[in-house]
Amino acid sequence: MCSNEILTVGGEQVPYFRTPEFSNIMFENEQLMLNFTKSPEGSKSIFMTSSSTGSMEAVVMNCFDENDKVLVIDGGSFGHRFVELCEIHDVPHTVIHLNHGQKLTKERLYEYDNHGFTGLLVNIDETSTGVLYDSEMIGDFCRKNGVFYVCDCVSSFLADPFDMANCGADVMITGSQKVLACPPGISIIILAPRAVERVTSKKIKSMYFNLADALKNMERGQTPFTPAVGILRQINTRLKEIKTAGGADVEIARVAAQAEDFREKITDLPFEFFSESPANGVTPVHPINTDAYRVFEVLKDEYGIWICPNGGDLRNMIFRVGHIGSLTHDDNTTLINAMKDMQKRGML
Ligand SMILES: *Cc1c(COP(=O)(O)O)cnc(C)c1O
Repeated sequence: MCSNEILTVGGEQVPYFRTPEFSNIMFENEQLMLNFTKSPEGSKSIFMTSSSTGSMEAVVMNCFDENDKVLVIDGGSFGHRFVELCEIHDVPHTVIHLNHGQKLTKERLYEYDNHGFTGLLVNIDETSTGVLYDSEMIGDFCRKNGVFYVCDCVSSFLADPFDMANCGADVMITGSQKVLACPPGISIIILAPRAVERVTSKKIKSMYFNLADALKNMERGQTPFTPAVGILRQINTRLKEIKTAGGADVEIARVAAQAEDFREKITDLPFEFFSESPANGVTPVHPINTDAYRVFEVLKDEYGIWICPNGGDLRNMIFRVGHIGSLTHDDNTTLINAMKDMQKRGML
């Protein structure tokens, strides 16, 4: 859910953007993003007009090639997307496959210690199953092995603690429609200095996904092509809203409290939790007696409440409840009451 302020900005005319006024919005967005990700000195932001998969693809294309040897953490559909991107772009890779809901242990990761890897791709919150990986533990591994470290934080940015400088991530990716709670359409890439250097020295075969071009344009607060101007203005309002409320840590605590409140309130219902290492952004729930997709449909059609179904082989097994954006503990109560009503009707 967007806040009312964000909705208001969305209702305004979209201005022409090759102007100092719009450049200032972009510079402000860049500074706030660098601040909220705790990125190291000399880092840069890139604002892509694409969904976050576009940024995942751009990062794979601009940071790796056939001379790399990349380790991919595949614990669900988003991890699997990185595997497919490596296949499409001919990047040699090895996959650490994790079962749904399973966390990545240090023992498992260090099976790949001293194996000559040059890169690592991970979705810090594997959103399909709500598993949070340990960005610091993975960062230590990358530092020790001299590995270029890419963190997809699409759903964990502003929901789970993340310190880009401390964990040593070279790249982090997020998107407008997750915790930023804006409409979909913009994805953001943060490059630490080592990534800036890599991206600017690499030749790639793409016009739209050329990150060196994006960096060059961003020096004047602009993008190579027309961006989703309206959403960038909404992001600006949202980032300033978060800053005024106390910054990234306050928003993370708010999402964590929203998740905790929900997880406490559902304990009486016939559900099981799904994740070994739960992220804050979303709670994946397995209904013991009924079809998970049916729960999603009934809540939508009969109660006017939207939760998130799963796709693929988890479609009938789990649904997910989000804790991000403009939600309150009262919203959790409304959902729980609807679920209790479903239970009374023999539907849970
Ligand atoms: C949502 C999400 C994405 C990107 O999805 P898009 O539909 O391309 O915006 C990527 N990774 C993770 C972990 C996500 O949660």
